[in-house]
Amino acid sequence: MNGKLITGMSKNREVRIYVAETTDMVENARQLHQLSPIATAALGRTITVAAMMGMMSKIDKEKLTLQIKGSNAIKLMVAIADTHGNVKAYTTDPQAVNLFNEAGKLDVGTAIGKDGQLIVIRDLGMKEPFIGQTNLVTGEIAEDIAAYFAQSEQQPSAIGLGVSLSKDAVVKKAGGFIVQILPETTDETITQLESNLTGMPPLTQFFEEGLDVIQVAGQIFAGLGLDELETYDLKYQCDCNREKMETALISLGKSELLSIIDEDGEAELVCHFCNSKYHFTEEQLLALVKEMNTPLA
Ligand SMILES: [Zn+2]
Repeated sequence: MNGKLITGMSKNREVRIYVAETTDMVENARQLHQLSPIATAALGRTITVAAMMGMMSKIDKEKLTLQIKGSNAIKLMVAIADTHGNVKAYTTDPQAVNLFNEAGKLDVGTAIGKDGQLIVIRDLGMKEPFIGQTNLVTGEIAEDIAAYFAQSEQQPSAIGLGVSLSKDAVVKKAGGFIVQILPETTDETITQLESNLTGMPPLTQFFEEGLDVIQVAGQIFAGLGLDELETYDLKYQCDCNREKMETALISLGKSELLSIIDEDGEAELVCHFCNSKYHFTEEQLLALVKEMNTPLA
């Protein structure tokens, strides 16, 4: 269930790179949510980019939520990542119908649609969270995230994301990269980078050929060199627990909770991210109502 992430700088310190390999995480999500091939490709790209974005923060408790609201077959995808490489995700349309482009590849852009939004929430665990929102550009996710970084965070970036599937729809390889252009980047460096990226095969092909994240970063930074390399583990992991579910029930409010007790006599909550079920008996629900009646000391 683990993935790998590396971060590094070019030798001239002008561009920063993130490369992630997320094959097992995306396959885990596919099995967990019983995703169709197109949903696997779309959610896989979302998981991969969220993992990299989550690791960009230096604030230990920060959580990054990435929401992609589509206008076609895939209406919503949500991924939450922390600064320790843990990612969880779900989509409202796990069984989205497969669409193919002219080249016969899964057409993620059309499945999501262009008339959607991308929302990024950075929650620092205190105060108000930072919320950035941009319109989707292509629905292909990589371009949409690049547009978000440029518009919302004034950070020019080049982004690539990919998920390849076997004939029986199992995830073969998944991964992605983000290259950040820093303010002092020279035209020479940008030209070199552009030429590297233009001539590059799909990222998943590198992984299929047996290259690891450092070697892939080396290909993207060919002629620029790699420095300040750091390696991190990534994991598809949900952090839900009974206490969080109780908080969710309490947040419904007393009258809503009483009507659940009245109508159903019990409650079952299912976590969107990992499908864990939490059952609450009438007695347990009444205890929560009682807790709400107790004024805070
Ligand atoms: Zn969960």
